[in-house]
Amino acid sequence: MLRCCELASRHRVPTLDCVTHPPSVDALANTARGSGLSHASLVALARKAIQQAQVDSRGVEALFEELVHSAARRRLQRVINATGVLIHTNLGRSPVRVDELGGALNLEFELSTGSRGVRGADLEERLALLCGAGSALVVNNGAAALILALSAVATGKDVVISRGELVEIGGGFRLPEVMLQAGSRLVEVGTTNKTHLRDYQGGLADNQDAVVLKVHRSNFTMSGFVSEVDLPSLVGLGAPTVMDLGSGLLDSRCSWLPTSPPSWLAGEPTVRECVQAGAGLTVFSGDKLFGGPQAGILVGTRELIGLCRAHPLFRAFRCGGLIIEALSRTVDAYLANDGSEIGFWRQAGSTVENLRARAAAMGLFDVVETKSVVGGGCLPGVEIDSVGVGINGDHRQWLLGLEIPIVARVFEGCTILDLRTVEPFDDAVLKSALLELDTVSR
Ligand SMILES: *Cc1c(COP(=O)(O)O)cnc(C)c1O
Repeated sequence: MLRCCELASRHRVPTLDCVTHPPSVDALANTARGSGLSHASLVALARKAIQQAQVDSRGVEALFEELVHSAARRRLQRVINATGVLIHTNLGRSPVRVDELGGALNLEFELSTGSRGVRGADLEERLALLCGAGSALVVNNGAAALILALSAVATGKDVVISRGELVEIGGGFRLPEVMLQAGSRLVEVGTTNKTHLRDYQGGLADNQDAVVLKVHRSNFTMSGFVSEVDLPSLVGLGAPTVMDLGSGLLDSRCSWLPTSPPSWLAGEPTVRECVQAGAGLTVFSGDKLFGGPQAGILVGTRELIGLCRAHPLFRAFRCGGLIIEALSRTVDAYLANDGSEIGFWRQAGSTVENLRARAAAMGLFDVVETKSVVGGGCLPGVEIDSVGVGINGDHRQWLLGLEIPIVARVFEGCTILDLRTVEPFDDAVLKSALLELDTVSR
């Protein structure tokens, strides 16, 4: 077969794409060999730089360097979260370790029989056990879990929900639109601030087929003249109940921590509570207070989980092996009652004394008392005592430019590195960055 260049030369047609690169493009691309970008990407950037140089006086090398730098910065990479936001949505929410498996997995394969198996089945059994539920199912994220739940149990049906719970969560995901998507009819009851049991009773009257949806107001608070109906009372009404818990705290006793539960968790509803109250389905995120990878978890009765599993959307929303593996490790840590294996709980459970000792060990720099927050739209308003290292001035941009970028925050003209969200093995990286900053800013 003729290569297109040969073809072109035979027919004497000039072509642009298939001629070899003019040496200047290749040479330019080669100047950034150590950047971590592929040669193909570098060639594309070199072409772009050459093109831009025609209208930009900065010179092709400078333009190329800038393009390479910003392309390298855009790649997914490890960063150090020194913001004090425990579940930082822009930094991947709960910190999870990703091991490179680099091989085949028995993802849908039964080792005992050598025949085809069910993806996630083992994880889902352990999740059900952990939550005290009849059955469990895992999908891509919490939003998918909610759409799947409503689609499987409430398509063509009325869904009764309090006006105080018609919420929007991050990314423009709005409850009324979700219901429309699932083909359910929205039956709003009560008012913004107060909804009573009789309101739900009114919504369910003469409606044998309706489903009740309760949504945890995880990302905002209402105070003052407010009241809502608790889940056990709603379940008592007899209709199938779907609980969108969102944040996904497993149990208020936090027996996986070496200390008593943090006071800032007080009042946060839990997965086990919802299951025990008799919710037909409880849905929550894997990467909020559960502390696992991005996932949507559904737990509930065998019957309703069975409907979700059989729904075509489940196939579209299912997780891959990497997520199943990471979530499986989180579940094992809970089953072993060992929160030290879960990044979120390790960080949330660090004592102020411990953080202070780490800050002091860095020497030279100001140890500052600061406040961490939970983040991820969870427990709004909650502040957690923390300790960090402070440097005068706003150095955020400089810290982001480091080889391992450090994300910090500025408070009253001072750059603060909150150690609560920094893993202790990164303290050394932080220290050398600060020493360098100290020299450059002199
Ligand atoms: C976070 C949240 C969701 C969405 O979960 P994602 O995992 O972000 O998709 C849904 N409902 C509630 C109440 C939430 O807090």
